[in-house]
Amino acid sequence: MIDNRLHRAQKTVSKMITLYCHAHHKPYHTSLCLDCLDLAAYAHRRIERCPYGADKPTCAKCPIHCYQADRREQIRQVMRFAGPRMLLHHPRLAILHLVDGLHKPPTR
Ligand SMILES: [Zn+2]
Repeated sequence: MIDNRLHRAQKTVSKMITLYCHAHHKPYHTSLCLDCLDLAAYAHRRIERCPYGADKPTCAKCPIHCYQADRREQIRQVMRFAGPRMLLHHPRLAILHLVDGLHKPPTR
C-alpha cells in the first residue's frame, strides 16, 4: 500500500499538470494531451520510487532531484504556472502540500 502522503503528492502533481495542460495545450476532449499524460505517469513513478518513502519532502525541497534533466525542466514550468493557481482551484491540496513542505527530509 502506498503511503497517504505519497498518494497525495501524486494527486497534487496530477492536478498541477492538468491546470498547466488546459491553459497551454488545450487538449481536445481529453483531460490531458499526450505529452502531459506522459509527464504525469513519469512523475507518479518517481514519487512511488522515492527513496524517502513516507518521509518524502515536497519535490521542490528534496535534495535528491531524481528527475531527468528534461523532465525536470518540464515539471518546473508546470509548477511555476500551477503553483499559485492551486490555492484557487484546489485549496485543500495546496495547503496540505505547504504543510508537507515543512517536513524536513532526513539527513543522510
Ligand atoms: Zn499538455
